[in-house]
Amino acid sequence: MPTVSAYAAPSATEPLVPITIERRETGPNDVLIAIRYAGICHSDIHLVRGDWGPVTYPQVVGHEIAGEVVEIGSEVSRFAVGDRVGVGCMVNSCRECENCRAGMENYCLKGNTQTYGSVDRDGTITQGGYSTHVVVDQDFVLRLPESIPYEAVAPLLCAGITTYSPLAHWNAGPGTKVAVVGMGGLGHLAVKIAAAMGAEVTVLSQSLSKQEDGRRFGASHYYATSDAATFDELANTFDLIVNTVSAPLKLDSYLRMLRLDGTMVNVGAPPEPLPLRVFSLFANRRSFAGSNIGSIAETQEMLDFCAEHGIAPETELIAADGINDAYERVLASDVRYRFVIDIATL
Ligand SMILES: [Zn+2]
Ligand SMILES: [Zn+2]
Repeated sequence: MPTVSAYAAPSATEPLVPITIERRETGPNDVLIAIRYAGICHSDIHLVRGDWGPVTYPQVVGHEIAGEVVEIGSEVSRFAVGDRVGVGCMVNSCRECENCRAGMENYCLKGNTQTYGSVDRDGTITQGGYSTHVVVDQDFVLRLPESIPYEAVAPLLCAGITTYSPLAHWNAGPGTKVAVVGMGGLGHLAVKIAAAMGAEVTVLSQSLSKQEDGRRFGASHYYATSDAATFDELANTFDLIVNTVSAPLKLDSYLRMLRLDGTMVNVGAPPEPLPLRVFSLFANRRSFAGSNIGSIAETQEMLDFCAEHGIAPETELIAADGINDAYERVLASDVRYRFVIDIATL
């Protein structure tokens, strides 16, 4: 088995360190990818610190992967050596359940195989993108448009699809009013994508400190949620609210801002339960919903949409030895707007 370099968490409480890991041999349907860039997602930090349950250490995370095909298996038809490709949050699914057969493997009823921290078909634990190479089944590999800057494209593979999918599903477009709660890694892409879809976009952020950026990304309005008047002023306004915040929110205050048949969809993942009053849903026949990344087909659609509309994530490129500092800055919301690791430094 090929041994490759990586950066891993040795435990829930220690900093990430350089290690080597084994990748499987390139099978008939596999693509061997030389990773060039890997985004840092808030989920990476939650997982390595054990926030979402027990972890088998050492664990390599990273599910925003951009690289090049360097070897293909004998049955691979969709990719050739040299192709610029991406890998997102999942690397396999059961392929048999109702949802997989409907082309929505992100909702696999047996649980899809996550890019890291999942039990793979061979019983090993999957290891993610903070690594020089990864072997992935061709059905879970995306084609990266070369018009999107290479060092910036990776965050589309998680943050991009996580926000694109609910915006597309709930029909963001001309004539609709969309609010984006939180303008971090996910939120800044939600703003860009919703605006490109033609929706009228409002940012709801804790303060007005990123207002200029928000308008540059395509928002028409920008409000501070620290100001109680915001919630009165915007009552019964939005068709769709996309909540990207991973911390507890007073849901009832946000639901009040939905107009008739409006939906608030949560893509942020706070570990604790969120209380809400059912009465907040009765008025205006409101819905509170969730959404989990997107299918592989929809992820490709999102990448092509971003290329067509000139959308790229706002990124800060770091070396591998800066990962631990970057984690602290993500936790302090001190990043505009996504860290990307230059894997050449690993
Ligand atoms: Zn992610
Ligand atoms: Zn399935």
